[in-house]
Amino acid sequence: MKKLLLIFTIGLFTALLLFGCNNIDPNASPQMITESPTMSLPTATPEQTPEVTPPPVEPTETPVPPPPTPTPAPPVPLINKIKMTAEQRAGKVAYITIDDGPSRNTPALLAMLRGKNVKVTFFVLGRNAEAHPQYIKDIAADGHVIGNHSYSHVYKQIYASPDTLREEIVHTNNVIKNILGQDYQVTLFRFPGGLKQSDPAYVQVVTDLGMDFYAWNIDPKDSGGSKSTTEALVAKFNSQLGSMKHPVILMHDAANKDTSVQALAVMIDQLRAKGYSFDVITRP
Ligand SMILES: [Zn+2]
Repeated sequence: MKKLLLIFTIGLFTALLLFGCNNIDPNASPQMITESPTMSLPTATPEQTPEVTPPPVEPTETPVPPPPTPTPAPPVPLINKIKMTAEQRAGKVAYITIDDGPSRNTPALLAMLRGKNVKVTFFVLGRNAEAHPQYIKDIAADGHVIGNHSYSHVYKQIYASPDTLREEIVHTNNVIKNILGQDYQVTLFRFPGGLKQSDPAYVQVVTDLGMDFYAWNIDPKDSGGSKSTTEALVAKFNSQLGSMKHPVILMHDAANKDTSVQALAVMIDQLRAKGYSFDVITRP
C-alpha cells in the first residue's frame, strides 16, 4: 500500500514537471503544496514582507542630508570689490595701498605721491590717527582715500572675538570722524595681518557696519621687523607683478620704513612706463 502511494506521488510529480506549474489546475495546486515540503514556498512570503518594508524607509532618509548642507556664499574676489570703469577693467590699473600709518614718514610719502600725481588708499590705525591728527587731515586734503585698519593692530586684542573686532573698527571710525568731521564715511577695512578675512563670523562684523574689506595681491614685504633695501623691495614687487592687470599693492607707513617711500617711487615710475594708470579703492 505504501509502495502504491509512493508510485502515485512520483507519478503526480512527473505530471507536474511535464505540464509545468503554470498549467496546473488552480484547484489542484493546494494539494501539491501541502504534500511537498519543497513547494511550501508561499509560507515564506509573510516573512519576506517585513524584510521588504525597511528598505523604503532608507531611501526616504537618504534624500534628507542634501537639504541641510548650507553652502556659504563664495567670497567675492578682491578685484570685483573695486569700482572700475569699463576702460579700467579692460586696461591696466594699479591700486597702491599703504597700511599702519600715519607715522613720521607720512609727510615724505605724501610729498612723493604729490610729485608723481598718484592717489592711493591709506589703511590707518586708530591709535596712530589719534597721535597724528594733522597727517590724517593732510592725507584727506591730498585726495587720497582713508580706510580703517583697526585701532591697535594687536592681533590678540583684535581677534579675541568678533565683538572685539567690532570695537576696534568702530573706535577707529570715530577717531577719523573726530578729525575729519562726522560726515566723513569710512567704508573700507583691511584685516591686520590679513587674518580672519576667511572667517564668516569676522567678515559679518565688517558687513554689519556697512563696510567691506580689502586684501592685496602683491606684497613686496616691507612689513618685516628689519628694514629691506629699496632694491630688494622693488625686486620682490616685480617678481610678483608679472602680467597682472589690476595689482593691489601692499606697502607700509611706519616710522622706520623710509625705504618704503623710495621703493614706492621706483615702482610708480616702472608701472607708469608699463602703461599702468593709478586709482584709489572705491566700493562699487
Ligand atoms: Zn598692518
